[in-house]
Amino acid sequence: MKYKMTRKQKKMLRRILITASLLVVFTIIKVIFSQIPWPVLLVMFLIPYVIIGYDVIRTAAINIIHGQLLDEKFLMAIASIGAFATGEFPEAVAVILFFQVGELFQSIAVGRTRKSVAALMDIRPDYANLIVTGEDGQENEETVSPEEVAVGSIIVIKPGEKIPLDGIITEGNTSVNTSALTGESLPQDMVPGDKVISGTLNLTGVCKVRTSGVYSESTVARILELVENSSENKAQAENFITRFAHWYTPVVVIAALLLAVVPPLFLGITNGEVWSTWVGRALVFLVVSCPCALVVSVPLSFFSGIGGASREGILIKGANYLEELSKADTVVFDKTGTLTKGSFAVDDIHPNEITSADLLDIAALAESYSSHPIAVSVIQAHHGHLDKNRVGDVREIAGKGVCAVIDGDDYYVGNGPLMDEVGAAWHECHLTGTIIHVAKVAGGKSEYLGHIIVNDEIKTESAKAIEDLGKVGITRTVMLTGDKEEIAKTVAGKIKLTDYFAQLLPADKVERVKELMAKGAKTVFVGDGINDAPVLATADIGIAMGAMGSDAAIESADIVLMDDNPVKIAKAVRISRKTMMIVKENIIFSLGVKGVILILGALGIANMWLAVFGDVGVLILAIVNSLRCFRISDKN
Ligand code: ADP
Ligand code: MG
Repeated sequence: MKYKMTRKQKKMLRRILITASLLVVFTIIKVIFSQIPWPVLLVMFLIPYVIIGYDVIRTAAINIIHGQLLDEKFLMAIASIGAFATGEFPEAVAVILFFQVGELFQSIAVGRTRKSVAALMDIRPDYANLIVTGEDGQENEETVSPEEVAVGSIIVIKPGEKIPLDGIITEGNTSVNTSALTGESLPQDMVPGDKVISGTLNLTGVCKVRTSGVYSESTVARILELVENSSENKAQAENFITRFAHWYTPVVVIAALLLAVVPPLFLGITNGEVWSTWVGRALVFLVVSCPCALVVSVPLSFFSGIGGASREGILIKGANYLEELSKADTVVFDKTGTLTKGSFAVDDIHPNEITSADLLDIAALAESYSSHPIAVSVIQAHHGHLDKNRVGDVREIAGKGVCAVIDGDDYYVGNGPLMDEVGAAWHECHLTGTIIHVAKVAGGKSEYLGHIIVNDEIKTESAKAIEDLGKVGITRTVMLTGDKEEIAKTVAGKIKLTDYFAQLLPADKVERVKELMAKGAKTVFVGDGINDAPVLATADIGIAMGAMGSDAAIESADIVLMDDNPVKIAKAVRISRKTMMIVKENIIFSLGVKGVILILGALGIANMWLAVFGDVGVLILAIVNSLRCFRISDKN
């Protein structure tokens, strides 16, 4: 990716180049004409010093007035002035020069990462073309801001425009590029009836969309909010660095002071030579007293790890979750919508003393207010018009089914345990699949009306997702489902899960996850949030399916997969491990180099040049290393 420097950065680059040239020329002159008197040299070197350092000195002075003595600019100012005092003029200029090189580098790196996250977040729609019907019955298009569009409005989206709100296509065929959200680069074809997601790009055709929610609840608004808040959730590593920096600088500065003063007290308090030697060594300390390499590179690593993940359609709500995920060893899945597609086909209808059409009618009416994948499929299979006026008082019985009043009578639609609960004389079906039983309860008596057989398919990526998790070192994969044992067993066998538990109510799922966690497993739970939001919140890390998932899921999850593809879980783990690895590398490397310079400096082996190079070199290498978090290969 190209990065264009800002004007300020360009100006700094010019100052750096001019100073570096002057420094080289003057140093050569100083070496060749060794008899130039020192006041002349001082004036000579003050020229590049002022060019490169005026702002550092000014800020340092302002900070002294405000009592902020340990600010890095103040330290650099003292180190350089000290170098002038001990007659090391080129070194004095170099201290500030390299400090500025480091600062510039850092500002470019941060800017670049921000920009790419922002580019990725370039999904905020600016306007919507709203259809308004005038008094004469004419339809007119009006450009309004997405916030002004009410639920159920019709908007027009032209080729090349961002889809401003979530909704359903009512007219027109097109293809949509979802790459900004899901990382999927192939366009998806859309026809009337398909769901479009805000923040994606309409490519080929003009289409009309009926909005399904207001802007503030749209996918795009929720994602933007999530990304904007992600930096508030700091990782332990970041907090450690902040605490460390708090102590490191004062300790090194005090050590520098002692080093400058104590040895001359014993070795000759009146000897100028002794003083200049030890003050020189102390200056080396001041140069490396700034923990910049850590303070900059650790948050930058997390930031670019989160940025890299979001390019893949994996939204991570904060650095702390990235850190937690890197330690995961157990992944627990919900079945429906997570490992399976969650779009059930109605295979057969087995009525009991009523017609098939009537049975389907009752089931669809009872399900008409539910967002459970089974409900959605039954309603879809119904085709005809649903008169919702016939439906009163609907209750979802999580993990079992629904109960509704239709035409004044109570109906129960759900699984075997639900039938037992109302005492209906139900029976198993010889067909395989999820069986939806229907019972009518009137006057304290329940009547079994038959069942509908629906079947779900395993997602094509599920088997690979489990295999990949094994490869990244996840030792245990578990499926939790409210469905029957038989189906759970088939699915678990097909995709090679280590364990499965069937016939669970939502509360049982929470218990299972708690049990795993109590045994010390770092547990990830992956679900779609349809009645499993409590589990998402309980697990060490909750991962939600974003596209088909409910709002509750996206709220309670720590990580959201935009395209519902379970393969992304292993990818997220890989990103998190790589980021943590890089963070550790940076910490060890920076502290190691600084430690060595401190020791060599105290012994008089390291001079200012080494200190300056070492310090800025570490900063630059650490930054470059951090940026590696942005790119994830499939190998590590
Ligand atoms: P999963 O654990 O696979 O996500 P749920 O906990 O949502 O499944 O549901 C468990 C079982 O309860 C389903 O397999 C189904 O038999 C029944 N059930 C749940 N909700 C409904 C519904 N709205 N209509 C019919 N049956 C339902
Ligand atoms: Mg579920």
